[in-house]
Order: sequence, then C-alpha cells, then structure tokens
Amino acid sequence: LPPARTHQLTDADVALRLPFPLPGDDKYSQGVVGVAAGSSVYPGAAVLCTGAALRTRPGLVRYAGTAADGVRAAWPEAIVTDGRPADAGRVQAWVVGPGMGTDDAAERVLTEVLASDLPVLVDADALTLAARRPGLVRDRSAPTVLTPHDREFARFGNEVGSDRLGAARGLAADLGAVLLLKGEATVVADPSGTAYVNGTGTPWLATAGTGDVLSGIVGSLLATGMDAAEAAAVGAHVHGRTGQLAAARGPLVAGDLLRRLPDAIRRIQQAA
Ligand code: AMP
Ligand code: MG
Repeated sequence: LPPARTHQLTDADVALRLPFPLPGDDKYSQGVVGVAAGSSVYPGAAVLCTGAALRTRPGLVRYAGTAADGVRAAWPEAIVTDGRPADAGRVQAWVVGPGMGTDDAAERVLTEVLASDLPVLVDADALTLAARRPGLVRDRSAPTVLTPHDREFARFGNEVGSDRLGAARGLAADLGAVLLLKGEATVVADPSGTAYVNGTGTPWLATAGTGDVLSGIVGSLLATGMDAAEAAAVGAHVHGRTGQLAAARGPLVAGDLLRRLPDAIRRIQQAA
C-alpha cells in the first residue's frame, strides 16, 4: 500500500472547499450532475438522491431512469428522462445505483456510465453489480468513488473487520478508486494514500434512504470538478452535520436531511 496521509476535516476546512456561485456563473458553470438511480420498486431512492444533488447546489441535475414520474413529481427543478444515461444530455459527473436493481437493464446502465470519461459515484445496487465485474472500475481512467456500507464492501471479497481505514485503503488500491466506507465510523481512502476519517454524524442516520442522500451530495460535489477523494470527504462531513441538525429535532427520516441541508451548509460556512 502507498504510505498513509490521514486527515480529519473541520467545519472550517470544509467551508473553504464547498463551492459557491460567483457573479459571472451560470447554471452550466456551476456543475451538471447526472443521476441514474431508482426503479418502479424503489422510486424513493431516486427522489432522495436527486433531491440531495439539487440541495447541495450544482447548477443543474439531470435524472435518467425508470423512476422518472416520481422524480418529476418531487423535483420540478430536475431535468428528467425515462431513457438511458446517454439520453440525458451532457453532465460533468454521474451518480449510479441507488434503488436501481441488479437486473440486465441495470447492468447496462452501469456499464454505460462507467464507460464515460467522467467522474462516477457508484452506490448501492451498482456496487453489487460492480463487485461481480471489478474490471469495469479498474479499467477506468476518470475518477470513481465507491460508497459501500460494510455488507456492500464485503461483496468485493473481504470483510471490513476492525481496521476500517486499512480495509478501505486496501480496496481503494486494488480498484484504483476512492473508497468511502460508511457507517458508524465513516472513512475515505484514495488510491494514492490520502485518507480521511469523518468527524460528523449520528446513529440516527441508521435509517432507510440516508445513504441515497449521501450519494447525491457527493455526486454534486464531483460535478463541480472537486478532487474525488476531497468530494467524498467533504460530502460525508456535510451529510453527518446535516444528520446531527435533523436529529436535534427528534427521530429523523432521510427526507428531513434534504430540508436541513441548506442550514447545515450555512452553519459550516459560518465556521470559516
Ligand atoms: P446506507 O447504508 O446506504 O443506507 O447509508 C446509511 C448512512 O447512514 C451512511 O451515511 C452511514 O454512514 C450512516 N450511518 C448508518 N449507521 C450509522 C451509525 N450507527 N452512526 C453514524 N452514521 C451511521
Ligand atoms: Mg445504501
């Protein structure tokens, strides 16, 4: 393994890295993110992921998938197609996987997205598919971010075990991808050896859909052109702070994170 350089970001570190619009910007210069997620069985994953991408504030979010009606109803701000990712129009980064299923059609979507020369965040069902064909990730030259929880991580061949950072670093080096290993102790590992230990979050995040929100946040940051490991670490930090803010009001559901995201970002920015 490459030598480790491990960081823990503070609110102030994150504030300096979060994108914000300048007077000359337009919606395209702010980053366009593509979301390939959801299915008729799991439209909610697509709605949460798209919403999180929008709330993190890129200029534009494009959705492609079979939960198009649900996404359209929930987010009039998104540009929605029920076609394939290639039909969605130009984007600067893709999020693929949440609620997408693992059938042949889903595998074609993943293959198509990974064949692009854009940064791609691979989550949920797309991790299950990628674990069967790790070459799809290894052969990429553009950045890939994988966001497994412990069970998704294990599908790539090894249990996480007690050394979470070591496990993430090992798989990152093996796949040549950024590993965001999430859970009680979220860590991010870059194939080059840079690593981050996340310092935010709450056990109240252990509820359905919060991972889909994380994917949308990180995907949005990737679309702004941020370094992939940095986008993963900044996104995990923002997601955890948002969870803490939502949990302060009582038991949370994933949708609460979307409502609290602007306030979490504002508070982080005030720390700078
Ligand atoms: P997923 O497993 O995809 O639903 O994602 C769950 C999200 O909740 C991830 O961002 C995890 O880091 C977070 N999470 C789950 N369990 C805990 C926990 N016990 N403490 C803090 N965060 C958690
Ligand atoms: Mg998940």
